[in-house]
Amino acid sequence: MKNIVLFGPPGAGKGTQSERLIDKYKLIHLSTGDILRAERKEGTPLGQKANEYISKGELVPDDIVIGMVANKINENLDAKGFIFDGFPRTVTQGKALDEMLHKTGHPINKMLALEVDEDELTKRLLLRGETSGRADDQDEATIRNRFKVYNDETLPLKEFYKAQGKYYGVDGMNSIEMVFDDLCKHLD
Ligand code: ADP
Repeated sequence: MKNIVLFGPPGAGKGTQSERLIDKYKLIHLSTGDILRAERKEGTPLGQKANEYISKGELVPDDIVIGMVANKINENLDAKGFIFDGFPRTVTQGKALDEMLHKTGHPINKMLALEVDEDELTKRLLLRGETSGRADDQDEATIRNRFKVYNDETLPLKEFYKAQGKYYGVDGMNSIEMVFDDLCKHLD
């Protein structure tokens, strides 16, 4: 089993690269953002609650997302592995993920981090907002708050995985193809 965390700030290209990686390596894509948006679209209580946070660029509470991820892992115990995209986003989530995977006997192999500067990220998010319909990509104040939350709450995970010897940075400013090639080198 291969378990990979695809890491990086909002707009770094995690979704784009995940699509390619799951195609090539037949892994399961576990995007907490996608799951939350699906819940919201269906109008479930969880989706409605999550939307209060998503629309402000805040993180959805840890217990909610950890529960979602646990369900998805337990539904796919025979999978070749997972690409975790947008999860973990806090050290609490990182610790919970380690515990969940410890039970399966297949810990995280690597954290692959897409490194992109904030000016480029802002451009990409605003562009995506024009076509994706995602309200959190259309408002600059919300985008700025997502960067702040990322720097304060998510970035500490870099040290968390470095301490385990699992952190690998990839230059996310390159073309989609080049980034994909670099990621594959780490996975092969
Ligand atoms: P981004 O493009 O910002 O990386 P995602 O699609 O991964 O966005 O997530 C969108 C929003 O969903 C986040 O801004 C946050 O509100 C919520 N969310 C997604 N994953 C998590 C998580 N692991 N913990 C808390 N909130 C999350």
